[in-house]
Amino acid sequence: MTKIDAWGSNKITNYKHVFKEFGLNEFKDYNLTDNYLFKRKIIIAERDFSKISNAIKNKKKFLQLTGIACSGDLHFGHKVDVDFFNLFKRLGAESKFCICDIDGYVSRPDSKVATIEVAKEVAVRNVADLIALGVKPKDIYVQSQKEKEYYQLTYEISKKITQNTFQAIYGHVDLGKMSAVLLQIADILHVQLPFMFGKAPTITGIGLDQDPHARITRDVSKKINYNIEVPSFFYFIHQSGLKEGNKMSTSEPNTAVFLNDSLKEMEKKINKTFTGGRDTLEEQRAKGANPDICKVYEMFKFHNTDDKFLDKTYKDCKSGNLLCGECKNNCKKWLGKFLTEHQTKVKKALPTAKKIVYGK
Ligand code: SF4
Repeated sequence: MTKIDAWGSNKITNYKHVFKEFGLNEFKDYNLTDNYLFKRKIIIAERDFSKISNAIKNKKKFLQLTGIACSGDLHFGHKVDVDFFNLFKRLGAESKFCICDIDGYVSRPDSKVATIEVAKEVAVRNVADLIALGVKPKDIYVQSQKEKEYYQLTYEISKKITQNTFQAIYGHVDLGKMSAVLLQIADILHVQLPFMFGKAPTITGIGLDQDPHARITRDVSKKINYNIEVPSFFYFIHQSGLKEGNKMSTSEPNTAVFLNDSLKEMEKKINKTFTGGRDTLEEQRAKGANPDICKVYEMFKFHNTDDKFLDKTYKDCKSGNLLCGECKNNCKKWLGKFLTEHQTKVKKALPTAKKIVYGK
């Protein structure tokens, strides 16, 4: 049986097998927008996405909720979540982005997030990153600042999940993680309550490893006595880590470029990034290289919106016209520009971020 660990970093490789086992639908609605995330097929699966595509096509109301747990600084893997959020907002979704400070504290070991205050300090940096990436401050909230209706819903949800169900879905009954799950379910469902946007189809984008959360959320939405729609989900591919074969991880800094990395740190990481290059320059010129396994190409695919550049890089790599040194230089130049601009925006956003996190 395939193991999906909602808190782990095991990389899923056999997608079709997982779809079948967990009842996910293969994503088909790639023509909904010509955005690069759709064109490049970063979304792979869905549950009930037709409700959302119908709402977009017919200009009907729909909602979205996305969240990030405050377990550390954001890297380019997290940026994909934010890019999807901004895209669905542009497609018409009434939107909320949750910065999960309580979740970040209660579901992580103390060595990582020692107190709720540490989680809030991380939350400030996370919120500033979101604003710098184009998320509107009014669309961001932190769990610790939520209204009483949100907490009432969280306790209602706790009445609908048994210990056995939790054990069956997650394989343990860790109290901190159970609390985090209740909040995550409340995050997704509460946007449909009258004090928020009211009943409407809701979309949340997640990685395949987060499917246990999606299943339990959909299940609970049918059991609680609230007038709401069963939420829809889309599943996107995680950008993998910079080294051969692994996933980006906040706890392993060398697997990812972080949004607050200095240019020197970023350049050092790109220099060491795994590529699909050949052993010698002569061989690469003669036979070409393999962009399909290359982490530099993957960085371009997930974040460089220029289709012509991406296409040319792919073809030149395959033909041997482009060597890895030059390609890495292109990557460092482009990332350097992005990080410099981003970090300037983050500095400006910090006072607003503090207000959102501390409420004053
Ligand atoms: Fe990767 Fe670029 Fe080398 Fe091709 S040329 S393998 S895309 S670094």
